[in-house]
Amino acid sequence: MPALEELDVTVLKGVGESLAATLTKLGIHNLQDLLFHLPHRYEDRTRVIPIGSLRVGDVGVVEGEVVKTDVVMGRRRSLQVTLRDSSGFLVLRFFHFSAAQKSQLSEGRQVRCYGEVRPGRAGFELYHPEYQVDPPAMPPPGEATLTPIYPLTEGIQQPRVRSLCRQALAYLARHPIREWLPAGLLADYQLPGINDAVALVHAPPADAPVHLLMSGRHPAQQRLVMEELLAHQLSLLKVRQQIQQRAALPLLTPGPNSLVSAFLEQLPFQLTQAQHRVVQDVRQDLSQPVPMLRLVQGDVGSGKTVVAALAALQAVSAGAQVALMAPTEILAEQHYHNFQAWLEPLGVRVAWLAGKVKGKAREAVLAQIAAGDVAVVIGTHALFQADVGFERLALVIVDEQHRFGVHQRLALREKGVDGQFAPHQLIMTATPIPRTLAMSAYADLDTSVIDELPPGRKPIETIVLPDSRREDIVQRVREACRQGKQAYWVCTLIEESEALQCQAAEVTATELQVQLPDLNIGLVHGRLKATEKAAVMAAFKDGTLDLLVATTVIEVGVDVPNASLIIIENPERLGLAQLHQLRGRVGRGHQASYCVLMYHPPLSQNGKARLQALRESQDGFYIAEKDLEIRGPGEVLGTRQTGLMQFRLADFERDKGWIEDVREIAPRVMSEPRVVEALIRRWLGERIRYGEV
Ligand code: ADP
Ligand code: MG
Repeated sequence: MPALEELDVTVLKGVGESLAATLTKLGIHNLQDLLFHLPHRYEDRTRVIPIGSLRVGDVGVVEGEVVKTDVVMGRRRSLQVTLRDSSGFLVLRFFHFSAAQKSQLSEGRQVRCYGEVRPGRAGFELYHPEYQVDPPAMPPPGEATLTPIYPLTEGIQQPRVRSLCRQALAYLARHPIREWLPAGLLADYQLPGINDAVALVHAPPADAPVHLLMSGRHPAQQRLVMEELLAHQLSLLKVRQQIQQRAALPLLTPGPNSLVSAFLEQLPFQLTQAQHRVVQDVRQDLSQPVPMLRLVQGDVGSGKTVVAALAALQAVSAGAQVALMAPTEILAEQHYHNFQAWLEPLGVRVAWLAGKVKGKAREAVLAQIAAGDVAVVIGTHALFQADVGFERLALVIVDEQHRFGVHQRLALREKGVDGQFAPHQLIMTATPIPRTLAMSAYADLDTSVIDELPPGRKPIETIVLPDSRREDIVQRVREACRQGKQAYWVCTLIEESEALQCQAAEVTATELQVQLPDLNIGLVHGRLKATEKAAVMAAFKDGTLDLLVATTVIEVGVDVPNASLIIIENPERLGLAQLHQLRGRVGRGHQASYCVLMYHPPLSQNGKARLQALRESQDGFYIAEKDLEIRGPGEVLGTRQTGLMQFRLADFERDKGWIEDVREIAPRVMSEPRVVEALIRRWLGERIRYGEV
């Protein structure tokens, strides 16, 4: 008897080559894939809702008699159909409609429709609802079931997926789904078996509790959620296990490390306790013959760069090379300058490599890297292009990991694997990540937290103002700069287009120069040449420029302690973590700092809540939690990061209770490689190819 996953979808009626090809786009090849293509929500068409009890945002079935049908000429021409039941009136509105539709929806006809309730001029409305004229009788209560809604792709519609899933369910009696979870575990959590759970979720029985299903809290759904979260956890643990099967160079010099002590002596400050602790964690890892896999989390300004430098020095003292990768050229360049200033006096050579380093210059750097003449190489992801070969790379540091996707992170690990040795890895995040999220998205890494800011930091006062106050804000900038302070003016645009962003920043810079003729204003955006960018940043850093107009390219890492005022235009367009990052450009020196969030009214409820959170807190961990609540994990981790966090059924907010449990369950399952494999394949399918690295 073949197992379910050995039955190709083409065994189903009506599935030929072309439909099979469409299903492939959804990652569906066999019947198991199909049954794990789970409905991500349900529609409740089981009962008719009285019009009088509707609220805005409700989605459901209403039924009534047409009392009036008109074509109205508002801002847009529309067909307006007024419906009445015994409890009230409701308007159906169609912006696109045919004459046939108009005559069909005529006075006196009975109409049943399904849609989402919106506020209208004279009461509630449904825009373009699905509808049926003179509908058949509703099934009696107790017979109807919820309608599952599946993720789709081009070329396939809901009814088709629904009918395929129903067909596939019929196979379960003879080809059951393999149960991979231990019976004891299911019993502990009072969860149903896999076959019952899958069947119920695709075809909820009429008596199943609607509210539990609609909210994703039915035990059958929760059973699947748990298995899904477990599969994701296992996939990362497996990657970790594979890496740690490799050997790494232990990077420890006998006796006291003179490079490290010389470095610490020349620093103009003492490490904080938290920095000390994290440096110790890293030191301990680096001394081991297995690759370090460590994530350092620290709030904006907590001093992660020094920690990176100390890790680098430890590797260099042991005679190895270090690669430091930053997500933007500006940031990489800044690290390059810092590291040069810190390390070259100690006799450690530092090199720079970005995508824009070309021709002879590139060849020269590459030759030095290959010969081991430079100890520390700093750059953007260009560092990991195929033509870059190291002589003895033993430590890879990735700064502001946020900006790189999970896949990039995992692919990166291949780099520098030379024969038997894999490099140690130190990953630093741009902003703190809520604990639950870190536990799932970074399950393959050990974590250290720098939970303390350097002493003497003054809090940043955050002010939220509408853009109608722009004049006042410009005056504020003038005043601050007159007092010798420096300021940032950050332009944001909703458009993804980098060109438009840069253009907006250019316009703003020109306008501000007209309004503030006494100030030296610089402009930096992603489209400038690397050398131009570097020149502007240097001029801002040395105080030649008073005001720096920028796009969000300055978001991460840029460090100019004398800057104490930042204006952020249209903050309502950005996520909380990003705003926190931007705000972190100030408050780095000893003077009081200010952040003005200049929004464009009106603000949505959500937008208000976000700016409020920012005003009341400067704690990156708190802000990250809020961000997670408001926007969900994909956004918090950055869009490119979502690969691993796209769940079929699990919802981060709703299901976070499982995360700790799954962390305890996973090691128990890890001892059975066959189960690990099967669960990963079932839930992550093709997305896990890099798991083979
Ligand atoms: P981030 O964690 O955001 O990357 P940085 O490493 O850029 O922070 O450090 C922010 C600023 O704080 C830098 O100017 C750095 O020199 C300074 N700094 C770092 N550690 C300390 C410390 N222990 N005491 C005082 N200043 C510090
Ligand atoms: Mg940094």
